[in-house]
Amino acid sequence: MKYQCIAQDGKARAGLIETDHGVIETPVYMPVGTQGSVKAAQQRELIEMGAEIILGNTYHLYLRPGTDIIEQAGGLHRFMSWAKPILTDSGGFQVFSLTDLRKIEEGGVTFRSHHDGSLHTFTPENVVQIQRQFGSDIMMVFDECTPYPCEFKYAKDSNEMTVRWAERCKTMFEKSSPIYGHSQALFGIVQGSVYPEIREMSSRSLIEMEFDGYAIGGLAVGEPVEEMYRITEFTEKFLPANKPRYLMGIGLPENILESIDRGIDMFDCVIPTRNGRNGMLFTRNGTMNMRNARYKTDFTPVDAECDCYTCRTFTRSYLRHLFIAKEILALQLASIHNLTFFLWLAKEARKKIIEKRFKEWKATMLARLQASVFTEHQTSISQ
Ligand SMILES: [Zn+2]
Repeated sequence: MKYQCIAQDGKARAGLIETDHGVIETPVYMPVGTQGSVKAAQQRELIEMGAEIILGNTYHLYLRPGTDIIEQAGGLHRFMSWAKPILTDSGGFQVFSLTDLRKIEEGGVTFRSHHDGSLHTFTPENVVQIQRQFGSDIMMVFDECTPYPCEFKYAKDSNEMTVRWAERCKTMFEKSSPIYGHSQALFGIVQGSVYPEIREMSSRSLIEMEFDGYAIGGLAVGEPVEEMYRITEFTEKFLPANKPRYLMGIGLPENILESIDRGIDMFDCVIPTRNGRNGMLFTRNGTMNMRNARYKTDFTPVDAECDCYTCRTFTRSYLRHLFIAKEILALQLASIHNLTFFLWLAKEARKKIIEKRFKEWKATMLARLQASVFTEHQTSISQ
């Protein structure tokens, strides 16, 4: 994997990540394909929307269908018929947030499956091995994502273990080889909760290990948004300019724009699909709740400036009808639009960075996103 920064406007960067499954133009929004599927969106639709890379969740795929089945299929790309790049997380976030956790030890984490209660262990070594079997283009190290709020002492001890785990992941990565003939990259994850000194220690230790890219984890876990920006801004200063930076699990459109402005290249979030399925559509003029009676006879598109299939083809009135009638098509059309909007946002940011007009465009977009007549309810950030 190669990264090249091709333009910069302030801290905001436009770059290229080259993988064996294609080039990713950054900043990039990565749709989340939790269980080998981006919920309510087909692979051919993702291609049409311009998705360049999608995410898979190691925890979910490991439990179901199981790593062996994915390996028998020839890897995750073949299993889910997706020929573009895939990033898989390390399972850490889900293990700590979803499971009945049995034990966190230096060696690894023992947990019970949220499906059937069966007992499993993730270690830095087996998490790298599992991602080798998936064949993801970008693999993530196993880390502990600390909750918020988090005591300083806990955050410090946890991060020291996460750093030791990162080293073990890196060793395992170097000892093992790709199974399917394409190369795989490994990213480190900076932790440290909201404490600058731990973030600095984490960044410095990981950079010494020379990962292919660096993620900032442990944010968007309930801290105030200003804290998230403050920690992102602080951490970015330590990250090498010649490697991609990935802010995990962020966020709302405004969070993405603010983070691009702070030097972040990669984003993933379930908000477009999850909120979309609940009837919340994101537009250049703020969010809309499609169930609202005001759209009953509104025969205009969701977002007149959007060129997605939903906006090209259907009206707000029809979408509202589908949501009220609980038609599956409602979820599909909402997901197509929201994913297209998030993909557009990152692509447009990239254009503006190249044109050196990012700051003014960001200000205009933020005003449009926030001052909307549509905005009916706030959403929360979640992973
Ligand atoms: Zn649209």
